[in-house]
Amino acid sequence: MSTAPLLEVRNLKLSYGGITAVKGIDFYINSGELVTLIGANGAGKTTTLKVIAGLLKPSSGSIHFLGSAIGGQPAYELAALGVGLVPEGRGVFARMTILENLQMGAYVRQGSHSVKSIDHDLEVVLETFPRLRERLSQLAGTLSGGEQQMVAIARAMMARPKLLLLDEPSMGLAPLMVETIFGVIQNLNQHGMTILLVEQNARLALSMADRAYVLESGVITLSGTANELLNDDRVREAYLGVDVKTSAT
Ligand code: ATP
Repeated sequence: MSTAPLLEVRNLKLSYGGITAVKGIDFYINSGELVTLIGANGAGKTTTLKVIAGLLKPSSGSIHFLGSAIGGQPAYELAALGVGLVPEGRGVFARMTILENLQMGAYVRQGSHSVKSIDHDLEVVLETFPRLRERLSQLAGTLSGGEQQMVAIARAMMARPKLLLLDEPSMGLAPLMVETIFGVIQNLNQHGMTILLVEQNARLALSMADRAYVLESGVITLSGTANELLNDDRVREAYLGVDVKTSAT
């Protein structure tokens, strides 16, 4: 028996006035998968995530999440249903402490608002991010970029998402911090979290994803397992910086 994907996007279009940023794309994510969407600047990756999270209304097409049509529903409803977005640039509340940022994350979830359940989840995310535990009363705006990324992911986790949308988590981070953040992402996925990862660092994203889609000027031009795309000459040339004419492999 086949089970329906956790997320299924069909013929999705989005226009900003006269500019069509997403031009009728189809993709799906099965429960437990880590799927990555790669593409150059301006390809439409952030737009796609914003539509799935309910921050933008699709111009046409459909989005099904957990078997129900969700296209056009507002972000707060989708967050309560289990769609968690970690936006590009992190979006932490700079004038709030880390603790307050994390507590805010718990507001959107359905049911289980008890202090006990929030404290339990706080304990779980702090185990994932021990660095945040040492700084709970520090203002988020004073954290390093990598620490802010940790807060953004941890805050999204506090909402108990069923699907985590990550927009460019490596952006602007030092290599060691990128490694830490991607270690956490991989760990969350290995513990069952379904993740849609948008990344410009295609090599890194493909190295840990199950499957991938390539988005070019609002159109999906390639898809397959991450391994297939890592070995695809078009991907190697355009996104992995390999000169396929001169490379032996
Ligand atoms: P990047 O990696 O640079 O963030 P992206 O793949 O995430 O790129 P989007 O941010 O989704 O790309 O942008 C897709 C296209 O839509 C671009 O041409 C961009 O200029 C345009 N666009 C994005 N936001 C708006 C907006 N609010 N108004 C008008 N056009 C927009």
